[in-house]
Amino acid sequence: MADERTFIAIKPDGVQRGLIGPIITRFEQRGFKLVAIKLVTPGKEHLEKHYADLAGKPFFPGLIDYMNSGPICAMIWEGREVVKTGRILLGATNPLASAPGTIRGDYAIDVGRNVCHGSDAVESAQKEIALWFQESEIVSYKVSQFDWIYE
Ligand code: ADP
Repeated sequence: MADERTFIAIKPDGVQRGLIGPIITRFEQRGFKLVAIKLVTPGKEHLEKHYADLAGKPFFPGLIDYMNSGPICAMIWEGREVVKTGRILLGATNPLASAPGTIRGDYAIDVGRNVCHGSDAVESAQKEIALWFQESEIVSYKVSQFDWIYE
């Protein structure tokens, strides 16, 4: 199915470091389709909901402060197996364990400044998309390259 969706967010450090363009380029050049994008500062309550599964972790308060420290570029990308492939494009959570050629492996060092978020499963992608976007913000269109990307 070419209509699987994932939630990708360029974190405040990625935005400040001028990495919006390079990160979008990696998803575009792979053949994925951008169907929603916005720059947001959603506030602590929203970020605590986004990371609710990590609420008990010692790094949780620092993570929320980090995510709340500036604008975030929130996006929805669409394509076949985009959730799994998005995670591969991102690299490991700890940038030092990420291979060169991945986003975190090329642009980051510290796990607490790892520049980009990507949903880790189809179910969490659906939850995250519903948390960050209204249905009216998601665009439906046919990419002219579609038949050159999918057999
Ligand atoms: P991922 O973002 O790869 O899905 P997690 O969901 O485990 O990873 O963690 C969410 C985010 O929390 C990470 O991307 C990172 O910014 C931060 N984080 C994870 N582990 C640590 C840690 N040990 N110290 C500081 N921040 C962390």
